[in-house]
Amino acid sequence: MSESASCIFCKIIRGEIPAVTIHEDAQTLTFMDVRPASPGHTLVISRAHTPNLLEIAEIDLLAVASTVQRVARAVQKALSPDGIRIGQFNGAAAGQTVLHYHVHIVPMREGQKAGAHGREPANSEQLKALAAQIRAALEG
Ligand code: 5GP
Ligand code: ZN
Repeated sequence: MSESASCIFCKIIRGEIPAVTIHEDAQTLTFMDVRPASPGHTLVISRAHTPNLLEIAEIDLLAVASTVQRVARAVQKALSPDGIRIGQFNGAAAGQTVLHYHVHIVPMREGQKAGAHGREPANSEQLKALAAQIRAALEG
């Protein structure tokens, strides 16, 4: 079995498992993190199955960076956080759990503790409502 066959993010790209999608284009896909560090936590992934920053092709890296900026601006417009944390992990020792290149966009509030991602599942209706707000800001 190829790495991409068992990869959870490749399964999302192929539509084999559901995700609350925000945006898609030829090289990237953006969707809500199911176990968010804060409300509005969004993930931007490359369509290409590449494990991390060290191995990703520059063309895919730049495409993800461009989408991250667009989506971060939409998150700012939609949710008005006090700040936005951009995160990216390389290797299990660094905290990476899904070995498919992705960037976290985490809205932060003043005084909010840095929540750990990948822990508590989000309420699915709340996730969909936040996604609709971010999507509207992206399109507006
Ligand atoms: P990292 O690998 O950078 O530590 O984080 C992976 C992120 O992917 C975690 O925040 C986790 O909640 C998220 N995640 C893992 N599996 C799924 C999934 O099936 N769907 C979605 N939407 N997010 C996922
Ligand atoms: Zn993958």
